[in-house]
Amino acid sequence: MKKLVIATRNLHKLREIKEILSGIPYNITSLPDDCKEVVEDGATFEENAIKKAKSAYECTGLISIADDSGLMVEYLDGAPGIYSSRFAPSDKERIEKLLRLLDGVEWEKRKAKFVCTVAIVFDKKRVEVVRGEVNGYIALSPSGEGGFGYDPVFYLPEYDKTFAQLSDIKNKISHRAKAFLKAKEILNNSYKI
Ligand code: IMP
Repeated sequence: MKKLVIATRNLHKLREIKEILSGIPYNITSLPDDCKEVVEDGATFEENAIKKAKSAYECTGLISIADDSGLMVEYLDGAPGIYSSRFAPSDKERIEKLLRLLDGVEWEKRKAKFVCTVAIVFDKKRVEVVRGEVNGYIALSPSGEGGFGYDPVFYLPEYDKTFAQLSDIKNKISHRAKAFLKAKEILNNSYKI
């Protein structure tokens, strides 16, 4: 079976991605320790995902897939966006900072979306990029123990729960699920060629 590298060192993301991609005719491997970390200095999710996947391809010579994702809050003009992981030093501090910035902001203005862009590098010439999004609101306070990152404050009205309270369902409806399901289709179709 052909090998496929998932270019992330985030174990939470890796677990989610492996689950979403399960069943594809590729042997999924994680990024080898000797492949260097990429500086995420792109101006968009797309640029960062392509940069990470290209770097993994150059390091391993294998088909490489990478995502770049983040939270965009309408009231904050799309922040933290591509800076989601660098918004504050820890998940707890990132959530605290977000809630502080939205202190007193009414419910309708707390609209937010998670975005995930996935890049697949097949070889030097072929790069495919897909995107997934999920809409919600920033809750008034954190709830739930599952997931990671901003999950405890990302509230989905249709479930009346945060992503952190929706662990099993999250992998079917999330931005990452939507983007990686598109990637899965591309990978499945490409295998037949
Ligand atoms: P990156 O894609 O590795 O650059 O990280 C994006 C950052 O966005 C993560 O470190 C989290 O802070 C946040 N993020 C992305 N996806 C999720 C998610 O599914 N749940 C919670 N936070 C997320």
